[in-house]
Amino acid sequence: MKKLILIVVDGMTPATFERAVESGRAPTLTQLAAHGSYARATSVFPSLTPVCLSSIATGAMPDAHHIPHLVWWHRSERRLVEYGSSFAALRAAGMAQSITDTIYNMNQQHLSRDVSTVYETLEAEGLTTAAVNITCYRGGTRHLPTLPWVTKPAYGPKRFFYYSLFESDQTGAPLAVRNRAAGSIDAYASVVGRWLVTRDGFDFLAYYLSDFDYASHAHGPTGAEDVALARVDGHIGALVDAAGGLDEFLERYAVILLSDHGQTPVAHVAQLEESLTRFADNVVVAASNRAAQVYLLPDARVDAAAIARALDDVSPVEATFRMEDGRAVARRGGADCPLDQLEHPDAIRRVSAALANPNAGELLVSAAEGWEFADLGGRHHAGGGSHGSLVEGDSIVPVLTIGVDARIDSITDVKGAAVAHFGAVRA
Ligand SMILES: [Zn+2]
Repeated sequence: MKKLILIVVDGMTPATFERAVESGRAPTLTQLAAHGSYARATSVFPSLTPVCLSSIATGAMPDAHHIPHLVWWHRSERRLVEYGSSFAALRAAGMAQSITDTIYNMNQQHLSRDVSTVYETLEAEGLTTAAVNITCYRGGTRHLPTLPWVTKPAYGPKRFFYYSLFESDQTGAPLAVRNRAAGSIDAYASVVGRWLVTRDGFDFLAYYLSDFDYASHAHGPTGAEDVALARVDGHIGALVDAAGGLDEFLERYAVILLSDHGQTPVAHVAQLEESLTRFADNVVVAASNRAAQVYLLPDARVDAAAIARALDDVSPVEATFRMEDGRAVARRGGADCPLDQLEHPDAIRRVSAALANPNAGELLVSAAEGWEFADLGGRHHAGGGSHGSLVEGDSIVPVLTIGVDARIDSITDVKGAAVAHFGAVRA
């Protein structure tokens, strides 16, 4: 039976993947692509990493897994949750609380118990799963942090590696957070991945590389290719090398390689709260990257439709979405329209699931091309790249499968493909 490696390259667009393979600029990706089948798939909405990785790991849309955005209003705790839009945003939301939300609460509290992660499902079958750096990691094994002054455990897969903070095994990997821009996070992942493959220490491995997205935010989706593509390729090549070369690697492992969302260039930044100041006593605005949510406070004297109308002439806003009389309604260009009139990829399913997320705002906002919403700390990526909206560039991802007999049209198909892979072999 072949084991399975899931490789998630954060923020890599289909165009980047296709260029990389055609030009031969990424030798490992090129070799892998020659042995597999390639397609494009859709992400979820908002197309932001915590939402997307939760969908990849659980196979569920946001209505079922309950992670709504990078930043959201926790209604019962009456506070903002911020998973790391920027350092300044973490500080604005309260540093200690934000770190706890990102590291622990996202998996232990916010991720719905009604869905199971790929690690939970496969380990219930007696398989050993491993996760490197992926932010949706919930599993059944208790892991204590590596730092002596942090004592709270996390519950992850049997083999669990998370930014040097949780390490189920000693691998000799350098600290993950030494120099983010220089790629130290993926360098950490790569040493861990090499260690795991050398020992063949898993049945299923989720191997998450985040540096490409980071570079793409700074340099734009195309500019990132010069900065980070070779590094990504090298970190995937490290797994192949650890197996003893491509033939040995593919003899032992099936592969699913994809990204979680795309990216599009952004030139302008908007502070969405400024367009809604007259509702300030009635709403909470949670904005980051290219998506925002507006939450109505319990005693609000305004409804989502009025807020949607107030955004009619706000050019950074391409469309808003809300529920009205039990139906999902989109509004753009100053008029309401049913979801089936939207031409965005998989729009009905993605918008409906985003609106049905109990942690989502009453009004969801998707940014226009070229625009980004500043986060809580006022930070943005104008001049670089961003994502989060419903538009195609943010929403389509490359998917390469090798030795996996499954069709992946959406990132929510990955978990089912992984489970079927092992189920089919065992049956
Ligand atoms: Zn990003």
